[in-house]
Amino acid sequence: MNEAERRQRVEALASCGGVCEVCGKTLTAGTWQGAHRIANTKPNRAKWGNFIIDHPMNIAIVCSLACNHVCNIGYNEGACLRLVRDIVKKELMRFPADK
Ligand SMILES: [Zn+2]
Repeated sequence: MNEAERRQRVEALASCGGVCEVCGKTLTAGTWQGAHRIANTKPNRAKWGNFIIDHPMNIAIVCSLACNHVCNIGYNEGACLRLVRDIVKKELMRFPADK
């Protein structure tokens, strides 16, 4: 793990308040995992793009593989589109509105 990845993990753990997003269990630095909502697969990267797949909002912080599986929304086209919309909406906030 390089420095950037380490920092990313620390930020991810802080962003979820230290608890599993699915079951609410307390997480520690060594016991959590990132769960892709839209799974990290080649077809999904081709369809949605690296920007979406790697975006922090596409990654839930969970305690276990069981909770990880619950986060997968890849089978639900509407849920995927809503997540993509929310990610784009959030990223657009960094830019001034068009006149
Ligand atoms: Zn959990």
